[in-house]
Amino acid sequence: MAKKQFKAESKRLLEMMINSIYTQKEIFLRELISNASDAIDKIYYKALTDDQLVFNKEDYYVKVTADKANRTLTITDTGLGMTQEDLENNLGIIAKSGSLAFKKDNEAKDGHNIIGQFGVGFYSAFMVADVVKVTSKALGSEEAYRWESTGADGYTIEPCEKDSVGTEIVLHIKPNTEDDQYDEYLEKYRLKSIIKKYSDFIRYPIKMDIQGQRPKEGVENEFEEYQEEQVVNSMVPIWRKNKNELTEEDYEKFYAEKRYGFDKPLKHIHISADGAIVYQSILFIPENTPFDYYTKEYEKGLELYSNGVLIMNKCSDLLPDYFSFVKGMVDSEDLSLNISREMLQHDRQLKLIAKNIKNKIKAQLQSLLKDEREQYEKFYTAFGRQLKFGVYNEYGMHKEDLQDLLMFYSSKEKKLVTLDEYVSRMPEDQKYIYYASGESIERIDKLPQTEIVTDKGYEILYFTDDIDEFAIKMIMTYKEKEFKNVSSGDLGIEADEKDAAAESEEKDNKDLFEQMKTVLAGKVSNVKASKRLKTHPVCLSTEGELTIEMEKILKSMPN
Ligand code: ADP
Ligand code: MG
Repeated sequence: MAKKQFKAESKRLLEMMINSIYTQKEIFLRELISNASDAIDKIYYKALTDDQLVFNKEDYYVKVTADKANRTLTITDTGLGMTQEDLENNLGIIAKSGSLAFKKDNEAKDGHNIIGQFGVGFYSAFMVADVVKVTSKALGSEEAYRWESTGADGYTIEPCEKDSVGTEIVLHIKPNTEDDQYDEYLEKYRLKSIIKKYSDFIRYPIKMDIQGQRPKEGVENEFEEYQEEQVVNSMVPIWRKNKNELTEEDYEKFYAEKRYGFDKPLKHIHISADGAIVYQSILFIPENTPFDYYTKEYEKGLELYSNGVLIMNKCSDLLPDYFSFVKGMVDSEDLSLNISREMLQHDRQLKLIAKNIKNKIKAQLQSLLKDEREQYEKFYTAFGRQLKFGVYNEYGMHKEDLQDLLMFYSSKEKKLVTLDEYVSRMPEDQKYIYYASGESIERIDKLPQTEIVTDKGYEILYFTDDIDEFAIKMIMTYKEKEFKNVSSGDLGIEADEKDAAAESEEKDNKDLFEQMKTVLAGKVSNVKASKRLKTHPVCLSTEGELTIEMEKILKSMPN
């Protein structure tokens, strides 16, 4: 039997495809500018091999012009251009990418800067335009051609006039409807901000004619309108620059411009990785806790760029939860993107980058702790709680990464100390790492149970955060030392005479203790003589795994 071809309502199909690929209309400009930049890259590669062709950087640019009266938006480039055949093949066949073919043909010459590969980006123009006209003259060609289409119901190609090599794309912007606004794509300030957002680091200048007002010469208090061609993109991103050329202020300015935070960053990390995966990254450790940090509203994540083009605003897979306070961006040429560029196809590369980044952050925090104690304490005050959550969460699987970054207030030092510092100061005969839980340092100072430990000359860590004891239970032992709550049964402190004394006291006061137990029935489970009191008459202690403080927290949690 003869095979029949599927028939499809191509206009509907195109609409469906475009609308399912792209979540935002504004990205059409990113796609068209990326194509223009690809076309300039291609002419640049040609120039590398062709002695006749000289590439003068100044001659290559993209220009974006809006004409409100005629409702047209024009994107012009001075790239390689397209022949009649190219127009037919690259714009007439959906999902055909001339750029991908070019990259394959020119593999040897390092074409990795070219952005296009899916052959659909161009059609995103139909999200905002009802007519698209592409006028192009290819390098080495005498004739120019115009491709014109109103969407999927077809296109025409005819010869036309064009002086210079390159491509001009004219979009007839759709009229506003009740549901959709299109006028904004004719507003310069809006276009400029879309360019800044997605295409700021395109390597070639993106120019616009921007109106301004200036004081009229010779006339006081009068202004005149003027028009000026401006380059709106920054071109070379800060993360591609050499670290040695950058100052602290440059990083701070970037942090502020990107609105990573309103504070000043405490520290930055600039990574230029050249190993198994190539990427650049600038990361910041903020100084202050964002107001919503410990709430559900806070979203972690880094900006993700593919070759200088913004793909994702907050890529959460790049940061572990315990480092969710880190701000910044990653740019990589090695990512295999999904067709929409808003998703990634394989997360293998992403996982590699994430692991790498995690280690860099950890190393940075460790060196801060070692070399800039004061700065570290500032950081710890803002985000230490998150690190402790990190130790506790996921059954403690990250404790090895985090335990050396923890700090607690010390009874001896009267300031924050690390577990390592505690253990290295332990007297020979001390068996445990002692801690005491309470609402505040002042409260813990008054705990009767602390006395016998401090009298022995041992140091106590004060746990004032509700997560502290839970996190420590996860760590279990640090440098082979167990943790011990000063309120728990066996403290491992020898008190022989006291033992005997407690025993006889127990006998002598049997009736009194029984009486106390009856009176306090339901509030305490036992009343005993204690071997651990010095100047205080009485103390509460716990039996079993949970301490009083932990019980209080568990009780206060919603079921
Ligand atoms: P992609 O960029 O993923 O290849 P597009 O749909 O964006 O797919 O573009 C399709 C093809 O059309 C490109 O691969 C390129 O060959 C060609 N093209 C699009 N815009 C231009 C342009 N401004 N100059 C030269 N060629 C272009
Ligand atoms: Mg493209």
